[in-house]
Amino acid sequence: MNYQGKDPKLWSSITKEEHRQEDTIELIASENIVSDAVREAQGSVLTNKYAEGYPGKRYYGGCQYIDEVEQLAIDYAQRLFGAEYVNVQPHSGSQANAAVYQALLKPGDTILGMGLDAGGHLTHGAAVNFSGKFYKAYGYGLNTETELLDYDEILKQAMEVKPQLIVAGASAYSRIIDWQKFRDIADQVGAYLMVDMAHIAGLVATGAHPSPVGIADVVTTTTHKTLRGPRGGMILSQNKFAKKLNSAVFPGSQGGPLEHVIAGKAQAFYEDLQPEFTDYINQVVKNAQAMAAVFNNDDLVHVVSDGTDNHLMTIDISKTKLNGKQLQNLLDSVNITANKESIPNEPLSPFVTSGLRLGTPAITSRGFTESDAQQVAHLILRVIKKSDDDQVMAEVAAEVKRLTEAHKIN
Ligand code: PLP
Repeated sequence: MNYQGKDPKLWSSITKEEHRQEDTIELIASENIVSDAVREAQGSVLTNKYAEGYPGKRYYGGCQYIDEVEQLAIDYAQRLFGAEYVNVQPHSGSQANAAVYQALLKPGDTILGMGLDAGGHLTHGAAVNFSGKFYKAYGYGLNTETELLDYDEILKQAMEVKPQLIVAGASAYSRIIDWQKFRDIADQVGAYLMVDMAHIAGLVATGAHPSPVGIADVVTTTTHKTLRGPRGGMILSQNKFAKKLNSAVFPGSQGGPLEHVIAGKAQAFYEDLQPEFTDYINQVVKNAQAMAAVFNNDDLVHVVSDGTDNHLMTIDISKTKLNGKQLQNLLDSVNITANKESIPNEPLSPFVTSGLRLGTPAITSRGFTESDAQQVAHLILRVIKKSDDDQVMAEVAAEVKRLTEAHKIN
């Protein structure tokens, strides 16, 4: 059978995207740059194989090597997080969360998660998401003064709404989360506790953030953020939930697992177990703190929660003449990529916002250190203050070019 050659249109787009990534300072906190080996695993012949079921219990023949691959991913994840039970099959973080809800709840049950505007994820109960449609969802926010999680308030809210499940974890919260406090709240109202550690999983793996494993009933994560693996999801728990969780993933909500992606997860976890990964994560945090210090030294912007303990921060730009959407577009024009983000008590719509979320996982993967990170923060401040000055914008673009050329991806 002859295959046709590569589609020139498709490969032109892929090549342009490769150049875009090379030439851009990537500050989207949920993105990263995977190793060549992770990409090779994903592009391997494993994409040809159907393997419904789990290692040793498949619905198809010929799964002996697939079983080895999936078991490796599970073993490495168990070692990384000290978890009793791991399911590496969820196609994404959202699929992982959907499977956990399906395993532990009935449609119509009540969940309490972090509100989208406070920094939670869509799957934590947003009205537009399945989690807000199939479940009665309530959202908690941040303390308006400290911009920190207010555990007393969350307990009060939990006592009022009596959730069957509490979700801890966020897409945009820059401080350490106290898992035990969430556990105590869940216990007081008789709820399950699910921690979605998607953003900080790499920090948890290396000890840079306390681990929720062993405290929460179930922990979910994506594998493509700070863990620096392929796009995908994962569930960690205890053996007592294994049967329910396994069947909620397959056949409950998915069919054949993406074994080529699971191979990418295994390769990433293998990398995450090496001592160099701890150095990498420590640098990610140092870079974020270096950026936050620059913003905090400027009167015009303010870092939400006053700083960062992890890989990200949201800057409040409500005192500037720009909104989040405008700043995101202006930064795009000088090859800095970031995303607009709601601030606590956001006055503008989620499509506009008064904030910008910034993260350091991707720039750290290409070798940026604290002085580079500070330089990037100064460039962002220049764009905020002088976006109508073409000369300044050209200088910023030139500096972005210098930094990306000094720290090549490939
Ligand atoms: N959970 C959190 C906290 C996230 O930030 C995200 C994605 O950004 C997800 C879940 C969903 O992951 P995915 O995009 O793989 O569905």
